Amino acid sequence: MRKALMAGNWKMHNTTAEARQLAADVAKACRDFDDREVLLAPPYTVMAAVADVVKNTTIQVASQNVCWEDKGAFTGEISPVMVKDVGGSAAIIGHSERRQIFKETDELINQRVRGALKFGLTVVFCIGETLDEREGGKTFTILEEQIRKGLAGVAPEQTKDIVIAYEPVWAIGTGKTASKEQAQEAHAFIRGLIADMFEKNVADQMRILYGGSVKSTNVDELMAQPDIDGALVGGAALDAESFGRIINFQK
Ligand code: PEP
Repeated sequence: MRKALMAGNWKMHNTTAEARQLAADVAKACRDFDDREVLLAPPYTVMAAVADVVKNTTIQVASQNVCWEDKGAFTGEISPVMVKDVGGSAAIIGHSERRQIFKETDELINQRVRGALKFGLTVVFCIGETLDEREGGKTFTILEEQIRKGLAGVAPEQTKDIVIAYEPVWAIGTGKTASKEQAQEAHAFIRGLIADMFEKNVADQMRILYGGSVKSTNVDELMAQPDIDGALVGGAALDAESFGRIINFQK
């Protein structure tokens, strides 16, 4: 049984006071569940504050990116050791905003994935096609390329620390959600590919999240799909009431 993972990506939002308040409100919305986990990915500047607010809860904290080295001359980066030092246990890697705006390549993302795993972080590895790629019938080719390159060199025993987030670029922050059928189709493809690259039991255990305009109104139908194991939520994660409803999705 895969435990659902409901993750909030705060992107570049929230000062310290705002972050503390939002984290506290999210913590209040979390029931005593044993079938789901909650992860918050605040900006680096407030990770320690958020980790402090949620320290007596089961909420986990992630960074929104991470370097592959533990320290060194990497201006502007933070290391997996630093993430752990401020109470984080995971890192989002390969988010489409990193790929599109900051031109991060599959090769760079792979370096980040391997580094994060080496230093003991859980990796939320993001992939997804653009609208042009979908309309050009290239969705599965793109997903396969991103996964094969992004997870190159990852050992089978490291896969337990990987969560995949399928986030069609055309659905992120646009209000346009993939239909449950489109999302399920992509998730099933991804699971098949993971079985092919590793083993069937690796694929059966790996959590695959959907991301792209997940809201309180569509979370239930998405979460009812057999290969959707959680959500990576952007906009709606900035509002405790909406994110609370998402966390408490109905089965
Ligand atoms: C995201 O940032 O990963 C995301 C899915 O954003 P949104 O929910 O706003 O589409």
